[in-house]
Amino acid sequence: MTALVSTRAELQPFLDGFANGRRGVVMTMGALHEGHLELLKQARHDCDLVVATIFVNPLQFGPNEDFDRYPRTLDDDLKLCAEAGVDVAFAPSVDEVYPGGRPIVQVTPGPMGEVLEGAFRPGFFTGVLTVVAKLLNLTRPDAAFFGQKDAQQLALVRRMALDLNLPVEIVGVPTVRDADGLAKSSRNRYLGPEERTVALSLSRALFAGRDAAGQGAEAVRTAAGAVLDAAAAADGLTVDYLALVDPEDFSEAAPAFTGDAVLAVAARVGGTRLIDNLPLTVPAAPHNPGVR
Ligand code: AMP
Repeated sequence: MTALVSTRAELQPFLDGFANGRRGVVMTMGALHEGHLELLKQARHDCDLVVATIFVNPLQFGPNEDFDRYPRTLDDDLKLCAEAGVDVAFAPSVDEVYPGGRPIVQVTPGPMGEVLEGAFRPGFFTGVLTVVAKLLNLTRPDAAFFGQKDAQQLALVRRMALDLNLPVEIVGVPTVRDADGLAKSSRNRYLGPEERTVALSLSRALFAGRDAAGQGAEAVRTAAGAVLDAAAAADGLTVDYLALVDPEDFSEAAPAFTGDAVLAVAARVGGTRLIDNLPLTVPAAPHNPGVR
């Protein structure tokens, strides 16, 4: 049984009950799917108390984004939480999280938050980091679990924990995909059947890029770009960005780059904006013309 609470006061006894145990939190916006489930299972495996937060954070949505139509499925979410062995679902109101209204003091991400997602969604990462800091303070976990699916968010949360000396371990969890490669996302439910097929080009592009990693960074970008270009021409996919970046700071990988990288993509299918990424390694090998 998962307990449902909506205020800090109601959550408190659960936190007090595990004062000496390991407390874990998984932060979500609800509309839970198997990607979230993986985070919850990992938390259940690692922790004595598992708290799932369910909160659609208004601060991270732009004026023309999907805050109003974002799926809200609390009853189903609670079933999934129970299945995953979550102890407490914390589903606060906007007033509970923002008692002073729109916060005057916010957490800004710096340069790493201004590229890729940050460039296309101004203010997005300020909204994300601010709510993550708030939810960490409200739930006081030893460990917080975030998906690699949102790789730039995961990197920024890690950086925030380091830069602000937050007493929490940030745990990254690999992306969960459908059998055909599409990354699980709450926004997939916006897609009609034909749009879902078009959306597959994101993961196909990433896998093509990873397959070319032996030939260097440029080859990765070219291989992935070719898949996206074809989908853009034939199926009306609109690409926001395709980038091969250093996973630490999300700076663009130079042509001679070798080592661990993240290949990230964002694209729109009809009215739905999707993101995906794949970690890969560009080897320092003779086949890699980027390496002298
Ligand atoms: P969201 O509800 O979309 O804000 O996501 C909540 C958490 O679940 C974030 O840490 C996401 O990165 C993670 N997540 C979302 N989709 C997936 C997925 N397909 N695989 C793994 N983690 C995911």
